[in-house]
Amino acid sequence: LQAADSPLLQHLNPEQRAAVTLPNEHALILAGAGSGKTRVLTTRIAWLLSTGQVSPGGVMAVTFTNKAAKEMMTRLSAMLPVNVRGMWIGTFHGLCNRFLRAHYKLANLPQSFQILDTQDQLSAIKRLMKQHNVDEERFPAKETQWFIAGCKEDGLRPGDVEVRSEEDRRKVEIYQLYEEQCQREGVVDFGELMLRSYELMRDNGPIREHYQRRFRHILIDEFQDTNRLQYAWIKMFAGDPTGTSGSSNAVFAVGDDDQSIYAFRGARVGNMADFVREFQVAHQIKLEQNYRSYSNILDSANALISHNRTRLGKNLRTDQGPGEPVRVYEAPTDLAEAQWMVEELRHLVRGEGTSEGIPRHEIAILYRSNAQSRVIETALFNAAVPYRVYGGLRFFERAEIKHALAYLRLLENPQDDTSFLRVVNFPPRGIGARSVEQLQDAARAARCSLHDAVSATTGKAGANLGAFVAKIDVLREQTQNLSLREIIDLVLQHSGLVEHYKTEREGADRIENLEELVNAAESFVTQEGFGRDAVALPVDELRQSPASQGLDANLPQLNEPAPDYVPPDAETGETLSPLAAFLTHAALESGDNQAQAGQDAVQLMTVHSAKGLEFDCVFVSGLEEGLFPSERSMSDYEGLEEERRLMYVAITRARKRLYLSYSQTRLLHGQTRYNIKSRFFDELPEHALKWLTPKNQNFGGSAFGFGSGYPSTRHAGGGLPRDLAPGHFASPPVPAQKAAPSHGLRSGMQVFHAKFGEGTVLMLEGSGDDARAQINFPRHGIKWLALSVAKLTPVA
Ligand code: ATP
Ligand code: MG
Repeated sequence: LQAADSPLLQHLNPEQRAAVTLPNEHALILAGAGSGKTRVLTTRIAWLLSTGQVSPGGVMAVTFTNKAAKEMMTRLSAMLPVNVRGMWIGTFHGLCNRFLRAHYKLANLPQSFQILDTQDQLSAIKRLMKQHNVDEERFPAKETQWFIAGCKEDGLRPGDVEVRSEEDRRKVEIYQLYEEQCQREGVVDFGELMLRSYELMRDNGPIREHYQRRFRHILIDEFQDTNRLQYAWIKMFAGDPTGTSGSSNAVFAVGDDDQSIYAFRGARVGNMADFVREFQVAHQIKLEQNYRSYSNILDSANALISHNRTRLGKNLRTDQGPGEPVRVYEAPTDLAEAQWMVEELRHLVRGEGTSEGIPRHEIAILYRSNAQSRVIETALFNAAVPYRVYGGLRFFERAEIKHALAYLRLLENPQDDTSFLRVVNFPPRGIGARSVEQLQDAARAARCSLHDAVSATTGKAGANLGAFVAKIDVLREQTQNLSLREIIDLVLQHSGLVEHYKTEREGADRIENLEELVNAAESFVTQEGFGRDAVALPVDELRQSPASQGLDANLPQLNEPAPDYVPPDAETGETLSPLAAFLTHAALESGDNQAQAGQDAVQLMTVHSAKGLEFDCVFVSGLEEGLFPSERSMSDYEGLEEERRLMYVAITRARKRLYLSYSQTRLLHGQTRYNIKSRFFDELPEHALKWLTPKNQNFGGSAFGFGSGYPSTRHAGGGLPRDLAPGHFASPPVPAQKAAPSHGLRSGMQVFHAKFGEGTVLMLEGSGDDARAQINFPRHGIKWLALSVAKLTPVA
């Protein structure tokens, strides 16, 4: 082993160093935000490699987002001269895809299987439900989608699901039909990627032994957000968790229970405790020194999260001074909030009020929900500030891109009914809904794909359908020997997509995006190095190992090139076409880098997608009751704790400067909401804050006086426990500054209803005849009332 004065260890504190140099045994690093967990994990990989304890092929590192995985590779290659592209570093989905590609036969998949994203999945489910006359009122497609995803996350196939009611039976039936449909079409959804690779590991001894022998070190970042299946998957790769004979691989998990923000998608913080118990984890290390933020920011985070009850317990300290105060801003409207942010960040970029200008990419604007981004984008756009939106509608999810991809997918796989339906009449070619329905009936009767059923159709509809299929088949012929770029160019022209968008009012943007798709393909082939980026790594000792004899011929190569590369079938030599590989890439990657690549831009994203990242300067916007914390989460304690963890994540992204803002009114989903500020403000330490607007301005400013604020312990009628009394709502009324809505109600107000009695207005939406109010009646619960009908009188 290398001496402890290795340069790798120089920039670590003693606890971090201890974690990096732990022996090859299971370990859990439990630590708060910004304490260096990811740094420790990455440095540990570098340490293991540089001390010769493992070869690059023997390491598997998993994280949650593509951005985080890329970040890890970048940090690693800065430390060591290894080609990280060949290593198994990626997201759960990315690694599962790679695994299934390598063993597609054993996994019972076509070699060029394609991945359904959530949008496609939903339309596939809708289609199926329609075909089988399932009542969408009783079984909303979205719920069915969640049901199926939930089953898969719990590792349950249709036959494993416990059926307790007729309704259950029906749901399971749909699940079963959905599975058959996916299998027939050769597509897998995200949950299926995980479940199928898990099952293959579980059921195939030689495969399991091979991989268990291969990955001596398994490292997982953001462990608190793993779900049941991901945990089981890790266990499968780890081998006998308590094995003493060296048969077990070392699992190194890092996480922070306070940053668990995916419970709504099945994440189980309990995996941490299970891990410690089941793996008899010998090493647990806590890191409490925060290196990211100044103490005003950190104090805010600590104070906020201390209001959660279910915590494993740890605190953060920093040696950096207090730094600047956390700035709080109240805006009258969401538009004004956005304009203020734009003004403020222009000052930051110019270096006014700071020691030096802050680069735009070091400024992040965070929000709770994607719908909030539109108004911010508009303000940035009008001010000509370059920005980049992460998450939200990913590049590859835009309608025009999906259309183009559907054509490309049909070239690869004519059986792909989802793609067929997407473009059979797009651009419009006179194929009506009825013809499509008849085609679907015919396909079902003949148990074949829509593509294959077309030959049996007759009449005018049949002719149009025939022409469509012929077009696809001709395109397939024409693209045989073309490069990926040429294929896409040809398809864009001959599909009629470009022509179609030329006639659309907002088509120019769409055409630009389609052109961007060509660029994406280009950089996929060159930069991403599809199949070309062979890596010089030490000879793979595993390839000669007895465990690898007589296996599926497609053992992953150790000299593995880019992550998207799929080795050719050893029997037939068949390899994934660049097109198929690109389509996979499109389904797994967000394409975030596509738009405005290379420009120094302000970063926009939801708090969820900011996890693990850091910026010099962070704006958290829309801190309003019902938005952050979100309305849905406010009805139960667990939901509220998750929102608070989310807020903790938001605050701890900032290094130097943090802004928190909210708006009195907001136009969201086409409705104007009247807001009160988030309860989270009550949980922040006053000494760390600086109010940029007079505190409490406008709140309680109604002509009727003001109630006690929402949801006070007094009025919530056994509702949410409040950690702090909402004292500041009782500020002196200020004269109303803007035209009050005609009904004269404001959120927070006390009202009387003849039937429900006294209640507190929580939220107002709509205007005129459509105006509605959400009101909490202590004795009747929360109700939505139409204001044109309900008779409400303000309580003085
Ligand atoms: P999160 O919980 O948000 O994912 P984390 O615990 O993974 O945070 P890192 O992102 O690894 O924290 O580190 C936070 C910041 O602190 C990074 O900029 C990192 O480079 C820096 N850092 C970590 N450890 C040290 C150290 N010992 N000395 C100086 N800087 C450090
Ligand atoms: Mg991290």
